[in-house]
Amino acid sequence: MTPTCSLCGSDRSVPAFEKSGQEYRRCGTCTLLFSQERTNANFQPSIDDFEPAYRQYLEERPIDALNLDDVIAWIESFVDLKNPDVRLLDVGAGSGQLVRRLQNTRTCAVSGLEIPINLADTLHVVWRRAA
Ligand SMILES: [Zn+2]
Repeated sequence: MTPTCSLCGSDRSVPAFEKSGQEYRRCGTCTLLFSQERTNANFQPSIDDFEPAYRQYLEERPIDALNLDDVIAWIESFVDLKNPDVRLLDVGAGSGQLVRRLQNTRTCAVSGLEIPINLADTLHVVWRRAA
């Protein structure tokens, strides 16, 4: 099967590098670095694939709700989080606990962004090769 570029759909690509057994290719048309393996090392297919300790880290605990409510109260000193027109982005969202707490207790739109370390490595490689 000929790999096709995730961005432009071109079937012209060459091998770029390999990481964790995953081949990355460079598109010959738009130069995007891409991978098409189903088992992309940067994205876990399901929560069950994480180690038990990490799944435990993701669980909600009552003490976390108290701490998160303090953080939310601090944010609300700047912006009305019950306004559905307000959009909040949690950069470095970690396990996403603050995002989930806001979704469950406020009406603002909230999203979380967390870049896994291995993906940050890949982004660094893309940047270095493009420079
Ligand atoms: Zn392309």
